[in-house]
Amino acid sequence: MGAALAERLQRLGVSQVQDLLFVLPLRYEDRTQVRHIGALRAGERAAVEGEIQLTEVVYRRRRQLLTRIADGSGFLTLRFFHFSGAQQAALSRGTRLRCFGEVRRGPLGLEIVHPEYRRVIESAAAEPLEETLTPIYPGTEGVAQGRLRALIAQALRELESTERAGPEGGACVHDWIPREVLAPLGLPSLREALAYVHRPPREARLDELAAGRHPAQRRLAFEELLAHHLSLKLLKRTVQSDPAWPLEDPARLASRLLEGLPFGLTGAQRRALREIETDLLASRPMVRLLQGDVGCGKTVVAAAAAARAAGTGLQVALMAPTELLAEQHFRSLSEWFRPLDVPVALLSGSQPARTRRSALETIAAGEIRIVVGTHALFQQGIEFHALALVIVDEQHRFGVQQRLALTEKGRKSGRFPHQLIMTATPIPRTLAMTAYADLDISVIDELPPGRTPVRTVVVPEQRRQEVVQRILDACRGGTQVYWVCPLIDESEELRYQAAEETAAALAAALPEVRLGLVHGRLPTTQKEQTMAAFKSGKIQLLVATTVIEVGVDVPRAALMVIENAERMGLAQLHQLRGRVGRGTDAGSCVLLYRAPLSELARERLKVLREVNDGFEIARHDLELRGPGELLGTRQTGLAQLRVADLVRDADLLPRVHAAAELMLATHPDSIPPLAARWIGSGERYGRVG
Ligand code: ADP
Ligand code: MG
Repeated sequence: MGAALAERLQRLGVSQVQDLLFVLPLRYEDRTQVRHIGALRAGERAAVEGEIQLTEVVYRRRRQLLTRIADGSGFLTLRFFHFSGAQQAALSRGTRLRCFGEVRRGPLGLEIVHPEYRRVIESAAAEPLEETLTPIYPGTEGVAQGRLRALIAQALRELESTERAGPEGGACVHDWIPREVLAPLGLPSLREALAYVHRPPREARLDELAAGRHPAQRRLAFEELLAHHLSLKLLKRTVQSDPAWPLEDPARLASRLLEGLPFGLTGAQRRALREIETDLLASRPMVRLLQGDVGCGKTVVAAAAAARAAGTGLQVALMAPTELLAEQHFRSLSEWFRPLDVPVALLSGSQPARTRRSALETIAAGEIRIVVGTHALFQQGIEFHALALVIVDEQHRFGVQQRLALTEKGRKSGRFPHQLIMTATPIPRTLAMTAYADLDISVIDELPPGRTPVRTVVVPEQRRQEVVQRILDACRGGTQVYWVCPLIDESEELRYQAAEETAAALAAALPEVRLGLVHGRLPTTQKEQTMAAFKSGKIQLLVATTVIEVGVDVPRAALMVIENAERMGLAQLHQLRGRVGRGTDAGSCVLLYRAPLSELARERLKVLREVNDGFEIARHDLELRGPGELLGTRQTGLAQLRVADLVRDADLLPRVHAAAELMLATHPDSIPPLAARWIGSGERYGRVG
């Protein structure tokens, strides 16, 4: 193979022959039988054979070539937008063609646009057909399907010949999963599974394969999930192989902080805090995810953990995803720590250089123990004196890679900081255990007392006028209102523009209402002022992009309108509406949508209207949109699985977890090669230390 092809294959993760076997088909086509044209249905992909009745060039908007073939049971149009003169000449009347492609309904009846085709000389019976279903592989630029298919077939032949060479010749694809794990699953061996998925026999059921339910596919899915899970587990081991400071808190700051609060912790908060405290007392780093629905009170639990570090004479960094949230955390923490005489510092990108410089100095000297900021905290050469704990708010914006960078940065005199990661996306337990296998998980599954669920209604865009009237009534009654602007456009610029236009239109429609606007493009001081004005009640209606998405706390805001709700993820909508109804008034949320709604969109909005439990919503999101939506596509390698599907194969997860424990205990040496096979040379998860 030439260097150019080898390089293109690299992009598919192929660097050795055995890697080819793990380039797995996306789907299959049945080219093993020629179908009667009369029996075709739109939407099918099928092979047909017929005689050309007519070929002509027509001009319908674009120049195109139409060829009509018939097989006695019906006729079919082949449509070409790109064609050569030679091609046109070869498609002459009376020629027999065998074609393959997707059948669709066209203006002249059923048709195939740009079919694969070839001339057949003899009758259908004599022409050899494909013997197996045809696999369609993930494409990569410059490697044609046919070429890839041939290379993989060659690799399969090689696999079979090494197999014939006996057990010693089996280096080609070693089965790294121990027998005692595989036997009870009743799935085929790795070789059998690979041979099957690359060349399913013609009797194979396309629907079963398309659904990914064939035992051969399940075998590979199991292995892929196990490989991912194990690589995350290894990552955790690596992180935890370094020492950390045990946070004993001789100053008892944590309990003093809790005693000073105007409320008592809920049972779920207490349980989570106990788990965290147990970890913090150990001399290896904690890596823990704190999960809980919006408003469940994660911040105060994090603050108690922070107090433990400060009370041990060490430092804490709290990172938020936006400056707005960093400022809010700074305010909460300042308030809670003030009675304890523990200063809190805020580091933000928009601070005057002098303020910032003096903050940096006090941090480097260890005088300031609690530092709040955005993730820029770790990108700007900040020196900590003794950083013992890193708290990250809203994990779904931070990927594994960033988690790693973080530990690396926090390393100081051979000690690693403990890590606490908070997320408001309540991911179902087995999924969380798989996606976050590098983390221990604590869950707060209870809201503080006195909260009433947010009442949610779904309203079409045409009734916007009524919604505007409702805002007016609310504002007159002393309620504050959020208006969340659409996320229609990919371009940030247009998004801000849309928010500004909406704000202008609402201001015109509601002259007596005091209105403010925040979006990501505004200078921080201005955002801060607007938020402060909203919090104090000076602004009644806040128009915002999703910068308010997470964590902003304004108790008197009890109504939220979300435009273009049909475009947003369920978890995100749920988090947004969690902003209202934090005070004594019951919160309401109006989801505005643009008709017509797709079936899926209708289903999703219904879930939001009927369900208020974040975990339940996450489960629906997972079913309706898949794990990418829930986990964030870029953030986790799991969103790009090759054969496994976290929803479809969810039933395998408990067995994957058990198998991982067993392999870690008894076959640790098999883990790196298994992980490398599925994840590549660790590029995705990187390495620490
Ligand atoms: P989230 O988990 O979404 O980050 P927050 O930590 O912002 O939630 O908490 C939401 C609000 O609930 C805050 O105003 C917080 O002070 C308050 N809160 C937290 N815990 C309790 C509790 N146990 N009882 C009453 N209020 C609480
Ligand atoms: Mg929060």
